[in-house]
Amino acid sequence: MKYQNLKVPSEKVSFKAAVRQGLGSQQGLFFPRKFETIDNINGLLELPTIERNKAILANFISEDLSATEIDNIIRQAFSFPAELKSVDDKSYCLELFHGPTLAFKDFGAKFMAACLKYFSNDKKITILTATSGDTGAAVAHAFFEVPNIEVVILYPKGKISTLQEKMFTTLGNNIRTIAVNGTFDDCQQLVKQSFDDQALVQAIGLNSANSINISRLLAQVCYYFEAIAQLPVERREQAVVSVPSGNFGNLTAGIIATTLGLPIKRFIATTNINDTVPRYLKTGEWLPKETQATLSNAMDVSSPNNWPRIAYMIESGQFAKEQLEGYSIDETRTQESLKELHSAGYLSEPHAAVAFAGLSQSLEEDEIGIFLGTAHPAKFKQSVEEILDINLPLPEALANCIDKEILSIEMEVSFEALRSFLVLE
Ligand SMILES: *Cc1c(COP(=O)(O)O)cnc(C)c1O
Repeated sequence: MKYQNLKVPSEKVSFKAAVRQGLGSQQGLFFPRKFETIDNINGLLELPTIERNKAILANFISEDLSATEIDNIIRQAFSFPAELKSVDDKSYCLELFHGPTLAFKDFGAKFMAACLKYFSNDKKITILTATSGDTGAAVAHAFFEVPNIEVVILYPKGKISTLQEKMFTTLGNNIRTIAVNGTFDDCQQLVKQSFDDQALVQAIGLNSANSINISRLLAQVCYYFEAIAQLPVERREQAVVSVPSGNFGNLTAGIIATTLGLPIKRFIATTNINDTVPRYLKTGEWLPKETQATLSNAMDVSSPNNWPRIAYMIESGQFAKEQLEGYSIDETRTQESLKELHSAGYLSEPHAAVAFAGLSQSLEEDEIGIFLGTAHPAKFKQSVEEILDINLPLPEALANCIDKEILSIEMEVSFEALRSFLVLE
């Protein structure tokens, strides 16, 4: 399968090139031109996870990889489950946080790292990525001590939780981290500018591990199938999925799953007060506002990177706009939602609580709701403890890094400063 640059349609590359380059020219996103539906979805849903994921992904990645390589990659990447937990009589949480850094981004990061091991050709690659919290940890852990790969992670200083920060800034070795005096959108912009600088791209073998990298999204397509496979058979046609959204990678993956034939009745794009997409869906106008800090900080994004991919699937007639609703959930409602979940006997965290609030507002009588649990509650220990008035023990992955020293350097929002840093090292 070829991947087309959504801004420059004549630019068509292989999976390997799309993964290695990250972005195409003019900062265009790589994306398949057309998705083919998979035959016998019911049969697919009966398969064990690894076999199912191979069947889903083979078509997308087989051009550059042998069957054995694909098998290795999928076994490495999908080494932990996506568990569907019943919350009340009509909703489930799809728990995506059972990987090494306790957030769904482990799926994409591990898959991308596994692919790049085959694609690096023994040349040095520099992974430059911006994080609003959880990408940093997932990418740092997936690429830690991988030969030939240098990782540089930018994050907005003071805008992510201390636990999140400790998970990726304390590793050292091939992982370097920069605390930027700005917002996540500023960090994202610096990454984009770096990709525009061809001399820089060539000099350091620049690549990105953000959800602009198509490999991350493809890995995420698989757990939507895993979710539906875990539903009782008689409920499979009634599923509505609410996705807590920031950069809209997760929702893009879900929509791809439906274009492949997975029965999902509709999607709810739920954001916090950074509501560019829900407003756009209502008014048709794309008007990002200044990003505001919220309890669900991994979704504090007002110019979501992946939206052009969703827009493309709609424009090309592969996904019906009517199957997508948008909700924006404010901070008060987020807290109420977290408390509602807790009284139903389900301990959650702010991102999933946003998704659950969107779902509750939208779900109809005969429907089954699934909201995505994107992070482990302990990753947001402080706010969860305060809102619910409880004590949360730290899981091992977090307890291990809490006393370690933060190794980041600080930087202003300056491309020149970033460039010198990257070139000099
Ligand atoms: C990254 C992240 C999100 C947002 O996902 P997108 O794919 O960027 O929309 C939601 N919740 C958590 C916990 C995250 O880390």
